[in-house]
Amino acid sequence: MAFSIHSMLAKSPWFVHYNCNSCNGCDIELLACLTPLYDLERFGVLHVGNPKHADILIVTGSVNHRNARVLKNIYAQLPAPHVVVALGVCGSSGGVFAGAYNILGGVDKVIPVDVFVPGCPPRPEAIIDGLVRAVGILRDKSAGAATVPAATPTLTVTPSPAPQEPHVA
Ligand code: SF4
Repeated sequence: MAFSIHSMLAKSPWFVHYNCNSCNGCDIELLACLTPLYDLERFGVLHVGNPKHADILIVTGSVNHRNARVLKNIYAQLPAPHVVVALGVCGSSGGVFAGAYNILGGVDKVIPVDVFVPGCPPRPEAIIDGLVRAVGILRDKSAGAATVPAATPTLTVTPSPAPQEPHVA
């Protein structure tokens, strides 16, 4: 891992995290990546609070009408080049909230997404794998290479059957 990240990028990738209506499950797993067990910082990956300092934006949760404006605002502050990671099925497609009256869908409904990390919530290993992919894309963007946007994962939501009227004899 250390070889992978440092061989891909000359500088340490810094990320900012925005909870976009998440249940906090994805956020707890992301924080687990920063604990001594997974210790992302040993690879130079740093969690920062200011989007103007970040190379990578990690978004958890589904986008709704209320937070879409905030998400766009954070995205607009990222310096170029930058990479966006949608964490969890909610960030990827709206997840269990897709189709709800106030949900727009996944993060890519509002801003371009480079990496989707599926899972509900994704395990720290999957998050670290997504970050390694993000660093690779960041390297390509830094070199001026054109990158293909990630395909949006599809989620089929099966509507619940209509409740049955109680039978009265
Ligand atoms: S993907 Fe799962 S854990 Fe993550 S915000 Fe959605 S419901 Fe919560």
